[in-house]
Amino acid sequence: MQPNDPQIRWIQEPELGWTGKIYLPLFIEGIRTTLRHLVGPKLTVQSPEQRHEIPEPLIYRGLHRLNRDSQGRVQCVACFLCATICPAHCIDIVAAPSPWPDRDKYPESFTIDELRCIYCGMCEEACPVQAIELTSLYDLTGKSREEMIFDKEKLLSVYDRTKDSEPIFQSWPLPAGLPEQATARPNDCPKP
Ligand code: SF4
Ligand code: SF4
Repeated sequence: MQPNDPQIRWIQEPELGWTGKIYLPLFIEGIRTTLRHLVGPKLTVQSPEQRHEIPEPLIYRGLHRLNRDSQGRVQCVACFLCATICPAHCIDIVAAPSPWPDRDKYPESFTIDELRCIYCGMCEEACPVQAIELTSLYDLTGKSREEMIFDKEKLLSVYDRTKDSEPIFQSWPLPAGLPEQATARPNDCPKP
């Protein structure tokens, strides 16, 4: 395409008037925004005394958990999909032959570096058996880097802590052979 092609529509930059040149409209808009926030509802939460109420806890991307199946075993089948897709490379899995007849492998070790994670949620999207999920727990603290590396037991304990308030999301049936477990999320709310 040449510059003189009739299909090209050239747009001229609008000329600023004197008010625009001294930023008056932007100044007024800024004052309006400040006044709106002065009289509007307050958003500040006095944490940690006050807890932030998360409007949609089921789709919030907070601390991870490893889900258990109906027999209390770790639901993960050590397929490595979550570790493969993780853009931050913060999931480390050691697979071993499963001691149970309904799957080939299970995670002998499963760790997530919660400091390196960017909470994108791709691990839970990739998991074929809904074994890993992000919960609405957001106030994650620790005194050392080691403390923030969550191992399998710690991730399972997050499941134990949140399973009643945040049931496992299931929008599709589990692969044949895996025990049925959880319920659907209220309103079948899709995860982002
Ligand atoms: S939320 Fe994203 S960055 Fe964090 S472990 Fe999952 S895939 Fe990796
Ligand atoms: S994707 Fe799911 S089943 Fe596969 S290793 Fe990760 S948590 Fe386990």
